This record gives sequence, C-alpha cells and structure tokens, in this order.
Amino acid sequence: MSTSQPLVIVGASYAGTQLAASARELGFDAPIVLIGDERHAPYQRPPLSKGLLTGKTTVEQLPLRGPDFFVDNSIDLRLGLRATAIDTTARRVMLDDGGSLDYGWLAIATGARCRPLPVSGASLEGVFDLRTLDDALRVSDALSRARRACVIGGGFIGLEVASALSARGAEVTVIESQPRLLARVFPPVMSDYVESSHRKHGVTLLTGRGVRALHGGAGGRVEAVELDDGTRICCDMVVLGIGVLPNDELAAQAGIATGNGILTDALGRTSVPGVLAVGDVANMALPSITAAGGPARVRLESIQAANDGARAAASVLVGHEQPFAGVPWFWSDQYELKFQMAGLPLPSDQAVLRGDMAGDRFTLFYLRDGALAAAHAVNRPAEHMLARKLIASQARIPAEVLSDPTADLKPFSSPRPHG
Ligand SMILES: Cc1cc2nc3c(=O)[nH]c(=O)nc-3n(C[C@H](O)[C@H](O)[C@H](O)COP(=O)(O)OP(=O)(O)OC[C@H]3O[C@@H](n4cnc5c(N)ncnc54)[C@H](O)[C@@H]3O)c2cc1C
Repeated sequence: MSTSQPLVIVGASYAGTQLAASARELGFDAPIVLIGDERHAPYQRPPLSKGLLTGKTTVEQLPLRGPDFFVDNSIDLRLGLRATAIDTTARRVMLDDGGSLDYGWLAIATGARCRPLPVSGASLEGVFDLRTLDDALRVSDALSRARRACVIGGGFIGLEVASALSARGAEVTVIESQPRLLARVFPPVMSDYVESSHRKHGVTLLTGRGVRALHGGAGGRVEAVELDDGTRICCDMVVLGIGVLPNDELAAQAGIATGNGILTDALGRTSVPGVLAVGDVANMALPSITAAGGPARVRLESIQAANDGARAAASVLVGHEQPFAGVPWFWSDQYELKFQMAGLPLPSDQAVLRGDMAGDRFTLFYLRDGALAAAHAVNRPAEHMLARKLIASQARIPAEVLSDPTADLKPFSSPRPHG
C-alpha cells in the first residue's frame, strides 16, 4: 500500500538515504523529499576518523551513492536546508528558508552531534569536534601544522583519531575519564589489549583523569589541557571524542515521545502515527535483544543499525512490515588492527578467548546461559562473519570448543544442531 502524499525525510545521511532507497526498492511510489542541513551530498562517516586523516581515503571516495542515484530514483534531495519545526496535526515540516513541506509520512533521521566539553577554553581555536566532513577537513588541516595533539575521550572515535594522528607523526596523548579505555563496550581484558596496542605505537594514555580546562595563548589558540589535578599537557591541537547526543529536539518540541533519542518500536514507528525515526536518533525497543537478556531499549550508533533500521521503517511505508531483528555489529580500525564487534555483551556473560591475543589475531566470545550472545574479533574477519550467524541462531557452543582454535564452529550455525 502506498500513498500519493510525499514522504519527507529530515536528515540526509545513512539512515535517511537508506530509507529513501529501500522505499523505492519496495515500490513506494509517492514523492520522496530528502532534506539535509549539510552542504555535502550524503557521504561516509567512518573514514573521517580513519583513512581521511591518514591520507588513505580521499574526499572523492566518500559519497554514499553515485551521482545519478537520487535523480534515477526520483528522490528530491535538498541540501543546505534545515527543518526547524514539525506540526504533526497539519502534517507539515517548517524549514529554515522560510518554506514548509507537507507530508503523508515523515521520517526523522537527524542523527547525533558531538557532546560538548563543559570546561573553559573548549571553544579555543585548535579544539575540534569530529562528526562531519567539514570537521574532518579542519582536523586534517590542523594536523599538518601540529606536533603535539591531545585526544579527549578514549572511545572508538578518539582511539581511531589517536592512531591516525600518530601515524601522521604527531605526539599523541589520550585523556580518558574512565579508569580504562572503552569501558562501556569492552571487558577489562579487551581494554588492556587496546591500551597496550596504543602504548606500543607511542601514544601516551592517561586514564581515570578528568579535564579541568583548556588554555590558550595570546592568539586564542589552544596550548595546553589542564587535568583535574592541575597537571598541564602542552599541545598544538585537541580533538574531542567524548560521545554524542541524539538530535531529538525537533521531535520533542513536536510532542513526539523522546528519552535519549526518539522512542520507536522495532519498525521505527514513533508515538505519533505517520512519523518514523531511524538511525542514531532512534531509541529502539528491540525484542530480539530484550529476549536475549539485553536492555529493553537501545540507541545504537552504527552504520548497520542506521541501514537496517531504515529498511525496517521502509517496510512500514508499503504495509509489509519487517521489524529490525538483526544482530548489531560495528567495526573500528586502529593501526593495523581491525576490530569487529557483534552482539551486545553484558558484564555477566562468560568471556571465552579463541586465538592469539599477543599475535593480534583473536576473537573474544561471550556466552550467556550457554548461548553465544556476542563476539569481539581482532583481525579475524571470517570468524566475525560466522559469529554473527551463530549469535543470530543463539548457538549453544561449549566453552572448550569455542576456545579451541582447531575446532570447526560452522556446524553450530543455524539451523541449531546443538540447541
Ligand atoms: C568519525 C566517525 C567515525 C565513525 N565510524 C564508524 C564505524 O567505523 N562503523 C560504524 O558502524 N559507525 C561509525 N560511525 C557512526 C556512524 O557514522 C553513525 O552511526 C551514522 O552516521 C548514523 O547515521 P544517521 O543517518 O542516523 O545520522 P548522521 O550520520 O548523524 O546524519 C544525520 C544528518 O542529519 C542532519 N540533520 C540534523 N538535524 C537536521 C535538521 N533539523 N534538518 C536537516 N538536517 C538535519 C545532520 O546534519 C546529518 O547530516 C562513525 C561516526 C563518526 C562521526
């Protein structure tokens, strides 16, 4: 079932673009208007903290879709245009150019923005966020003149930046307020591994340390980071990687239910009929995760979640509902290490190591009540792919089999031979 009323999508990145593409693939034949407030056509974000900084990726390689995609699929892409308000009764979106758009369906795909650092000096010159292509170009430009860099935040993006900056020859210090790196996603054994990898590459890691202020020189340029004990780390540039906040204000102001993002079901449906939300801004109730003992709601920040969430939402538009049910997965590249994470481990899971941590080729599997719930792989792409299948089928694999690198795990994949 389709409607002749337009689908208006606010936010032209992964989720918005995939929703438009999937809607067309599924035969949605009403007009689609995709608006984005950035000046660039939809582009890939992962290289912004990886290849674009090291020089391995060029700006020309970033577009998400080919030049003809939007025209060929009758998707009216409007860039440099910002939605300022939504009237869900009149089904209208107000725009910052003074115009408005009426919709039959509205999809909010406004993503997330960098969390600001709440200390004095955070807006000095030489202090950078990293979310957009323009941010990345500014970081790259500053790096060409910088000798010493501080990265505030030891999460994935901060660590990718640290590895890229050190590859470009900068002296890098990472400051993390938690007692260990990646504490939110990794168990201590993985944090230790990541820490030793960065130390091997000459990066200085300061964990369990807060930032009190950033200090600049006479020209208003950052010159030092002051830690909570008064220590000053001299630097020529600072990159912030302290997490993101969902861009959910537009929805909240329109009376759409929010709470750490826009609340949706596994189809991207919000509390207001006719309004969908997808991607980083969506806080989804996912029965597939809840059933496995995970959290009742998750706001996943990944390309896969943006794409799969958009596919689920597109299915609503044509009346063939296919909820988001996949295993969440994510990757990170640091130095020569390819991290691939599948599933969402809980601290109570049993962690089982397979492979060689010292040789940088291993997977840490997580068993929950005997069933495989998650896996963190390093330089083991085939094992990661298999793990996703095994997690999806909740394969029951004895720990001694998982830990034996000679044991074949394929027979445990779906249909469940052992479960
Ligand atoms: C540096 C970096 C590296 C990353 N690396 C990885 C990785 O390796 N693997 C991975 O899986 N994920 C990675 N991610 C995360 C991934 O990029 C996000 O999960 C993904 O971009 C989410 O897509 P989205 O479409 O939901 O939101 P976004 O990509 O945030 O896009 C939202 C868009 O909406 C626009 N917008 C917001 N408000 C409005 C408005 N009112 N009107 C119009 N437009 C608006 C925004 O400007 C933006 O262009 C990375 C992210 C960054 C920043």
